[in-house]
Amino acid sequence: MERVNPDFLSKVKEMGAFDINACYSCGNCTAICPLSTEEYSFPRRMIRYSMLGLEDKILSGPELWQCYYCGECTDTCPREADPGALMMALRRYAIRQYSLGKIADIFYNGTSSVIAWIFLSVAAIAGLVYFHSPTPNLQRVDPLSFITLDFLHYAGIVLGVVIAFFAIVQLVIMAKSISRGKTGAGADVWLKSFWDTLINEVFIQKNFDQCEDRTRYIAHLALFWGFSGLFVATIMAFGIDFLISVESSLKIIPHILGIISGLVLLYGAGYYLYRRYFIKDSYSKYSHQSDWVFVWLMFLAGLTGFLLDVFMWVNLPWPAYITFAVHLVIVFDLLVSAPFTKFAHAIYRPLAIWMLSAYQVHGKEAQA
Ligand code: SF4
Ligand code: SF4
Repeated sequence: MERVNPDFLSKVKEMGAFDINACYSCGNCTAICPLSTEEYSFPRRMIRYSMLGLEDKILSGPELWQCYYCGECTDTCPREADPGALMMALRRYAIRQYSLGKIADIFYNGTSSVIAWIFLSVAAIAGLVYFHSPTPNLQRVDPLSFITLDFLHYAGIVLGVVIAFFAIVQLVIMAKSISRGKTGAGADVWLKSFWDTLINEVFIQKNFDQCEDRTRYIAHLALFWGFSGLFVATIMAFGIDFLISVESSLKIIPHILGIISGLVLLYGAGYYLYRRYFIKDSYSKYSHQSDWVFVWLMFLAGLTGFLLDVFMWVNLPWPAYITFAVHLVIVFDLLVSAPFTKFAHAIYRPLAIWMLSAYQVHGKEAQA
């Protein structure tokens, strides 16, 4: 017997702009959706569940995470019920529900999110003010003469452990929810599905490419690869500095990677900001404040990462040090909040697709 939450729809409505009461269940949206399948069909089924308050049914299915909000269902809805916006709102709701201690609620409420962002930024600035060196190298740009490697090293470890803890616990909460009532697959199936998901869902995001508008797919890939590239460039830069104390030609590699990745990230985040500001189509006509913060932080992370590498390249010490400090504050805000904000879709979606893929392979094997 499914539990009914009578407040479910009103709570989801706080997370998005849709009007599913107008829906007369014609099914156009599901028929047009390029990602809906017979077994896991949406968005109409999600509309019915939402109307009935079947919260557990929604949270225990992978359908939410199969949707990339291309907006094709919304465009074809004869009642302007905006099913695409409902799917997006359900994902925001799911991120809040999966979060440990409901911490994500803080970032989805206007007032508390402003206080949280200010608090995080002030904490990061205080750390930098306390640990920065008053005598940085002014002859040759060296960010580690401004903020010490030891501080970055230990702060990075603490941050990594905290983020990993929340991410893993929340993924377990989600996995338990999705696995409810499903029969287990073997280790070989899980392993094969893992590699399929990693390549197709994470690295090339093949499903997103099934949406009609390819520009959004390419920008989404740019966000992923740009951010990942900057992350790797940072690790490489500090790793090389840590291992090689003398001048080395190897030090150029992270700078080149940082500049290219920064530009790629700027393109991806810039595209999504542009869509939200200037193109009011079915995908971008409504953005929750949590979307705005996430896209702006991504954009600023790319901009400051790119500028830092340029200032280092042309050897401008003070612009480089100030940009470095701003970059660290932005990246801190982005990473420390990642398990509780829109950023969390980067872990929830691959897990849901992985589990879906494993159950589908297992189901086919059982039938054979
Ligand atoms: S197309 Fe519109 S009216 Fe038809 S089922 Fe979907 S949301 Fe409801
Ligand atoms: S927004 Fe796109 S992917 Fe999502 S349900 Fe609608 S048609 Fe399908």
